[in-house]
Order: sequence, then structure tokens, then C-alpha cells
Amino acid sequence: MQGTSHISVATGDPETCKFRCKLQNICYAGKYQRLRPTVRKSYQNNGIEITRKIYDEGELPIVTNTQCRFNAFGEIYDGDRGDIQLTNYINIAKKNPSVNFVLWSRNYQKIEQYFMVNEKPNNFKLIRSTSSVDKPVMYIPNDHIWDGVFNVVSKQFTMDNHIKVNCGIKDGNGDKYSCVSCPTRCYSMSTKNVVFEHVK
Ligand code: SF4
Repeated sequence: MQGTSHISVATGDPETCKFRCKLQNICYAGKYQRLRPTVRKSYQNNGIEITRKIYDEGELPIVTNTQCRFNAFGEIYDGDRGDIQLTNYINIAKKNPSVNFVLWSRNYQKIEQYFMVNEKPNNFKLIRSTSSVDKPVMYIPNDHIWDGVFNVVSKQFTMDNHIKVNCGIKDGNGDKYSCVSCPTRCYSMSTKNVVFEHVK
């Protein structure tokens, strides 16, 4: 994630992704965590801390990159813990107004409940990740809340359905774009994208 900060919690916990996401056997974050138990421990601690209380502005981090992903690992918690997590994320975005923040989530119910009554800051986007491979959502549902959709598809599916993949694409030198330079621009506050990525 060159040039992009991230603030994450643990992947695969029963309270977050475990019973919601059907990508578990191909989950990149889960594989990474299994290989690095210290990373898992540190994200588990983040999950405890970020859902423990609503922090004062002075206690929240200053983000030094121009863009930041919430939950590159992990998910929004259910119940009160999820409300606290989202409030802390929003307050981090407010504290860092020159940074663009994007949260990818499969906890649709919690996100929609929360943002029915809470406003998103101007530098905060929500991307709705689909929970299964080859079951893409081709439009942005509830687009007063969600700013984009992220789909994971197989190569066969893209061929059969004439879908153009727009995440993980390569530049003229054959190098994969990082999110900072990617022409799909998920981190731009002016885009609303339906994104397709091939299963890795
Ligand atoms: S489409 Fe581009 S900006 Fe969006 S997640 Fe993929 S690489 Fe990053």
C-alpha cells in the first residue's frame, strides 16, 4: 500500500468478518495474518482500543500520507462497538481534513444504520465490498450512503460477461498501479466507481 496509510483491526474474528464474508479461503488479509502472528496480535489490540471509547481529538492520530484506508484488514464490528469504531474513524477524518479516507466494508447493515443518522465528512468515502466471488453488484445501491462498489471476479467470469477489470491493472511498463497512481482513483472524493478485481 505504497503512499497510502491504513488503520486496521484483525481479520477473521467471529465479531467481524467470520460469519459475514464468504471469501475466507481466498482472503488476502487472512493469509497475511496467518503468516505473521505478531501482525494479527497488533490488529486484535487495535480492535480492542478503537472500540473501547470515543477518543478526544488530541488522542487521535495525525495521518502523514495524503490518503488513508480504514480496515485494509478487518471489518466494522456489530453493535455498540461498531458505532464507537465508526465514530472514531469519522473523528480521525475530521482531524485530518487534507487526507482522503476510504472505508471498504461488508457490514452493510451496520454502515447503513449508522450513516442514516450520522453525516460523512467531505474527505470520507464508503465502498461496499461484495461478499462472494463472481456475484458482482453492477450499480451502487443506496448511493446516498455508499460511494462505490468493489467486486472480486474470476478471469473466466470477466471473459464470459465482457467485464473490464479496473483494479490491479498495469501501467505502460507492466507494473501494477498502486492506489496512489491508479487511474480508477478510489481515493478521489469526486469518483463513484463500480470496481472489479481479479481473484489473486
Ligand atoms: S481500483 Fe485502484 S485505487 Fe481502487 S483499490 Fe484498486 S488499485 Fe486502489
